[in-house]
Amino acid sequence: MGHRIAVVGAGPAGLTFARVLHRRDHPVTVLERDPAPDARPPGGALDLHQGLGQLALEKAGLLAQFQALSRPEGQAMRILDADGTVLRDWHPRPGERANPEIDRGQLRGLLLGPLDVQWGRGVTEVVPQTRGGVLVRSADGRQETFDLLIGADGARSRVRPAISSAAPHYTGVTLVETSLDDVDTRHPDLARLVGAGSMAVYGVNRALVAQRNSGGHLKVYAQFRAPLDRHANPDPSDAEAVRSRLLALFDGWAAPVLDLLRRGTAFVHRPLHVLPVSHTWAHVPGVTLLGDAAHLMPPLGAGANLAMLEGAELAESVAAATGPGDLDDAVRAFEEQMWARAATWAEITTAGLERLVSPDPAEALALFDEVQPS
Ligand SMILES: Cc1cc2nc3c(=O)[nH]c(=O)nc-3n(C[C@H](O)[C@H](O)[C@H](O)COP(=O)(O)OP(=O)(O)OC[C@H]3O[C@@H](n4cnc5c(N)ncnc54)[C@H](O)[C@@H]3O)c2cc1C
Repeated sequence: MGHRIAVVGAGPAGLTFARVLHRRDHPVTVLERDPAPDARPPGGALDLHQGLGQLALEKAGLLAQFQALSRPEGQAMRILDADGTVLRDWHPRPGERANPEIDRGQLRGLLLGPLDVQWGRGVTEVVPQTRGGVLVRSADGRQETFDLLIGADGARSRVRPAISSAAPHYTGVTLVETSLDDVDTRHPDLARLVGAGSMAVYGVNRALVAQRNSGGHLKVYAQFRAPLDRHANPDPSDAEAVRSRLLALFDGWAAPVLDLLRRGTAFVHRPLHVLPVSHTWAHVPGVTLLGDAAHLMPPLGAGANLAMLEGAELAESVAAATGPGDLDDAVRAFEEQMWARAATWAEITTAGLERLVSPDPAEALALFDEVQPS
């Protein structure tokens, strides 16, 4: 092929792109800011859908390995009301593999495989060149040029400003994440409360969601509407201050539900930001975006799936582009396809967030009944 191709970011989008290209024997440079694959906690498990994330893994030749690692039982979903009454208790049928869960660390390991990632290479600036190609500057002072640069560097993309002036804005909803370890031995009551998959409790403008990860690890997300200011976000390193604030916010909820917050360890604030629903840009030869960098949306189970499918599809198109001008045509066509699909999902997830963290908790239950197979 002869094209010099680089991808910024070793998340689901960047790694899937690189892995599919690698499978087709095309060299690709992966630049990642993290100093090592396990440099920071990976975050909660992802559910990967048939036709989206799972299709991407099939294109990467990794579907069988995913099926061995993932947890179909993690698709189970239980909904309680604030006084602890179970309203819904849904379990997947035997063999149901529509949306199995996989830990992010496991997914990263699976996608990494033989890839040669340049860890600790934070990109600081991207400059498209007038004669074609793009110049990439890194925090370590290095600069390189590529024929095609893919920005798969997430919500706060440093590649995006080279082609788009759009910036993420706050949704009005904040997530505070906490975790519990060894729940089956140390917190068997909470392990039973949550079950094999996820559990959610919806209240007025707030919700509490707990998700079982592998190895007896539980992620808990307190979700609420709040302004984006310091009062709403106490110093996250002061775990007891955050805990008290959350317990006050969820005051009156059933004791076992609040125990998820009482026994949680560290707290991480995640104010939810999104890009405009139909984010597009005037095509710039030599640069494009994938995943959250292109279409950050509320975290309702689509972001990583779209990111991975886009990565796989773009890699296939790039691998097939052999003639002069083919590479740019392939990227243009890919962008059109990505924009249309992402806009649909951005609308769905934006409307979903409004209903899940809403003044009327019945909306969340109605949404569950609409999307969940009976
Ligand atoms: C609480 C929560 C739960 C979610 N659950 C789901 C789910 O179940 N299913 C689902 O599909 N989606 C889910 N999502 C959304 C999903 O996490 C994202 O959509 C997905 O991670 C996007 O992948 P990405 O590769 O585009 O970006 P990221 O995962 O953000 O990866 C970007 C990578 O780029 C690197 N990077 C950033 N800046 C630079 C730089 N300047 N230079 C070099 N490298 C850089 C980062 O270190 C990172 O490795 C959830 C999100 C949240 C917050």
